[in-house]
Amino acid sequence: MTTFPEDSILVLLGTTPSGELTKSAAGLLGAAVGVGTPVALVVALPGQGAEAASEAGSLGAKHVLMAEMEELSSALGVPVVDALTVAADQVQPDAILITNSLDGRDAAGRFAARKRCALAVDAIGVGRDEEGVLAHHSVYGGAYNVDCAPTFGPLVITVREGSIDARAEAVTPTVDVLDVKPSGAAAAIVESFEEQTAASTRPELRGAAKVVAGGRGLSSQEQFALVEELADVLGAAVGASRAAVDAGYVPNSYQIGQTGVSVSPQLYVALGISGAIQHRAGMQTAKTIVAINKDPDAAIFDVADFGVVGDLFEVVPQLIKSLSARKG
Ligand SMILES: Cc1cc2nc3c(=O)[nH]c(=O)nc-3n(C[C@H](O)[C@H](O)[C@H](O)COP(=O)(O)OP(=O)(O)OC[C@H]3O[C@@H](n4cnc5c(N)ncnc54)[C@H](O)[C@@H]3O)c2cc1C
Repeated sequence: MTTFPEDSILVLLGTTPSGELTKSAAGLLGAAVGVGTPVALVVALPGQGAEAASEAGSLGAKHVLMAEMEELSSALGVPVVDALTVAADQVQPDAILITNSLDGRDAAGRFAARKRCALAVDAIGVGRDEEGVLAHHSVYGGAYNVDCAPTFGPLVITVREGSIDARAEAVTPTVDVLDVKPSGAAAAIVESFEEQTAASTRPELRGAAKVVAGGRGLSSQEQFALVEELADVLGAAVGASRAAVDAGYVPNSYQIGQTGVSVSPQLYVALGISGAIQHRAGMQTAKTIVAINKDPDAAIFDVADFGVVGDLFEVVPQLIKSLSARKG
């Protein structure tokens, strides 16, 4: 059996139904390599593990534990946590990194409860001091940065998608097959499902590198199309403030903020958004923030790197025109 390094960081990598690693894998392994030796756990359907394991190596996983489980197709949550439990017992990691997606948070919470570990959610980075691994958080709408660490045991950390720029170098990993016996813990069972292919060519909001978001300033569902138009020219995902969602311009899944999605893109463009603290809570860790608002005192300008004071219905069409011209 492989002996794992003392500074091992166990990284749970999610897979898509077709077996590829989810987009968050590169950032999680990039975070892990900064504080220890990344050991990836790949949980996949039978026949899909080997490819995902080699993809994990190309993203920097030095060791890969591979669990192929038929139960993944029918039971929610529990199979992954069963695999994570076996992996953590073998690796004895200093920390466990999991993406802060819905599935990731589900696995992290269940695992932390099962193993009585401390849990740090929605971290925007990880570090290490003389006592062990720390999680970095941006709290109170981005007004404070705080660190947290456990008093005992490995810290389970969910990492905000898109928040980690670091990347690990590709390696050829050692791959161990993990033998996971089902724990029998109660799980919701999927009796049937219908696969749907999303028609959108836009990136998914969570984890997108660029986001264009619109607020109440768009004034109507029809006019919100301007946000989508700019997003498409930039190759960005579309988001919204709660006021825009409540007014019915876009569905609830677009909402960014305290009670919506948290994003950490390279570029965040806010159109007609005032910058209430509950909105900023979900976007303030974006690397570059551009705001267009007709009110020079709007709070969004306090966090913007670039701001345009003006009517978005005049500014945005010009922006789209000049970006389109550049693309040729
Ligand atoms: C418990 C709780 C949770 C919340 N959670 C969230 C959350 O998750 N996400 C969230 O977004 N909000 C959340 N909110 C609501 C939040 O407080 C704000 O009400 C909301 O973010 C405001 O949205 P807005 O900026 O689009 O609208 P407004 O605050 O009304 O701002 C509209 C902006 O558009 C500008 N504008 C208008 N017309 C134009 C134009 N033609 N050109 C340029 N600019 C223009 C105005 O100057 C103004 O600044 C929450 C509130 C509470 C109490």
